[in-house]
Amino acid sequence: MEKQNLDWSNLGFNYRKTEKRYVSNFIDGKWDDGILTEDTNVVLNESAGVLQYAQTCFEGLKAYTTQDGQIAIFRPDLNAQRMEDSAKRLHMQPFPKDRFIDAIVETVKANASYVPPYGSGATLYIRPSLFGSGPVIGIKPSEEYQFRVFTTPVGPYFKGGAKPLTLCVSDYDRAAPYGTGHIKAGLNYAMSLHALRTAQQNGFDENMYLDAATRTKVEETGGANFIFITKDNKVVTPKSESILPSITRRSLMVVAEKYLGLEVEEREVLFEEVKDFAECGLCGTAAVISPVGKIDDHGKEIYFPSGMSEMGPISKKLLETLTGIQMGVLPAPEGWIKNITIGGA
Ligand SMILES: *Cc1c(COP(=O)(O)O)cnc(C)c1O
Repeated sequence: MEKQNLDWSNLGFNYRKTEKRYVSNFIDGKWDDGILTEDTNVVLNESAGVLQYAQTCFEGLKAYTTQDGQIAIFRPDLNAQRMEDSAKRLHMQPFPKDRFIDAIVETVKANASYVPPYGSGATLYIRPSLFGSGPVIGIKPSEEYQFRVFTTPVGPYFKGGAKPLTLCVSDYDRAAPYGTGHIKAGLNYAMSLHALRTAQQNGFDENMYLDAATRTKVEETGGANFIFITKDNKVVTPKSESILPSITRRSLMVVAEKYLGLEVEEREVLFEEVKDFAECGLCGTAAVISPVGKIDDHGKEIYFPSGMSEMGPISKKLLETLTGIQMGVLPAPEGWIKNITIGGA
């Protein structure tokens, strides 16, 4: 298969149209068979549930080329489960989980020429989404839904090395107890955009959100979970009902324990303890781990010993081990890698 002629290592993280996307509609109480289409546009009634009451959720994962030249995706079963959980919480019709994985595989196959080559650092980002497409005006869930999967090639997250980020403790809350922080809902992002821009205008890369009830415990950033490394090399991640269960973070905790032999803890993390950690990182599909160098709490600065020029040693080991597993350089735990066969079954 001929690859697209793209400057893979210089792609940014932007939408770029690829050949085909998958679309299925839930109408008259059932999901249709679904199709691959070249049409990038969605035509909706002006009163669609997604437009009026933000009935929408999404997922994010990536396809990439492994060391032996195969196209692979990482733990899509967890994305399928998480999208079902999101759909249920928003009272939306879930898309069947087995069909979710098939739809992703078909969409990646149809855009195989856009999967970046091994070693480029670039990936084909996959964006499934589900939204209320039927008209509503009284407050109620939509009766019609659309499930869609599109792909877009994205460049290496870190061009020229992973430069540690600077965060600020946000004055806004991301999620309430018993709210929607644990699902991947568009509404969580809509309400975080102003907080993000405010942080950026003040010279920070991202917000650290604390728990809304007491403002004493670490939650997450707008789009990534935290991991911390203690001075005696323990890997600690915040436990909370209102953070989004990152697949990357859950995988890293397994890697830390099973591959690197480190002690791991998922527990409440007080903001008060943060100053005592040796390393801090943000976990998500795009970057795997982004190092954090500094956190500003209203002028009071916390500098991590790992510094502002490079990633700390344990974060680096975690990153290298997980990307090694993803790329087929290291053996993967059962079920983590799904290979996609092009031109075959
Ligand atoms: C998607 C997301 C993450 C990262 O999850 P991954 O499954 O690792 O990509 C973390 N926090 C929030 C709020 C998210 O939406």
